Amino acid sequence: MIILELCFPARRLSAELQSVQSGRLLSNYGILIISNFISKLVLPLGLASFAMHAADQQWGLFNILQVPTWLSIVASVLLLDMLIYWQHRLFHKIPLLWHLHKVHHADPHVDVSTALRFHPIEIVASIFIKMGAVFILGVPAVAVILFEVLLNGFAIFNHANIRLPKKVEAVARTILMTQILHRIHHSQLYQESNSNFGFSVIWWDRLFGSYTDEATKPDTQIDIGLVEYPETKENAQLWGLLSMPFKRK
Ligand SMILES: [Zn+2]
Repeated sequence: MIILELCFPARRLSAELQSVQSGRLLSNYGILIISNFISKLVLPLGLASFAMHAADQQWGLFNILQVPTWLSIVASVLLLDMLIYWQHRLFHKIPLLWHLHKVHHADPHVDVSTALRFHPIEIVASIFIKMGAVFILGVPAVAVILFEVLLNGFAIFNHANIRLPKKVEAVARTILMTQILHRIHHSQLYQESNSNFGFSVIWWDRLFGSYTDEATKPDTQIDIGLVEYPETKENAQLWGLLSMPFKRK
């Protein structure tokens, strides 16, 4: 995806953004490393190990009901994806959570590095939410790994600064969150960012009434990011991102 967006960028960087681009990339990848490090400190064995432990203890619906493995894997991946859709909506809706999630949205450009730019506390909160689901449902460990790989893969796919060929995009958007649809979610306009919450498939947005198929501006001209966080140096520095939730704006 990085190679594709370097060769065929959908949107060009503004001059202001160009001047802070190396710092921005360092910060986005820096926060990824810090978030991963902190989440490993909080839960050293990871979610899949927790799922194995839950299975040993016969915790959760699928374990109690002795659902066939293939069915529990398919149902778990789908239910976890729906859970992440609602988690995303809640992080936009509840002010306390929004202060964490805005670190992701303050990025004035959307590319692969944006897909990885999440505040460590948001990552840890998300792990505990998923842990709750593993405990209640009895999600098999293989479904946890499958889901994490798919979720991260799709996030990198739909944040990439590319545009699928028109005909491919028209078909893809009937199932998937495409780059064009996800850039609408990164618009500065509230009614646009308050839509297209899905990270992988589009059907949760369609089902729960948050789907927007077209922005008011063309894809190349959508104002990306947050008005209160312009393309300043602070917004492109690692410490600026880590401290963002705790500063008044
Ligand atoms: Zn969001």
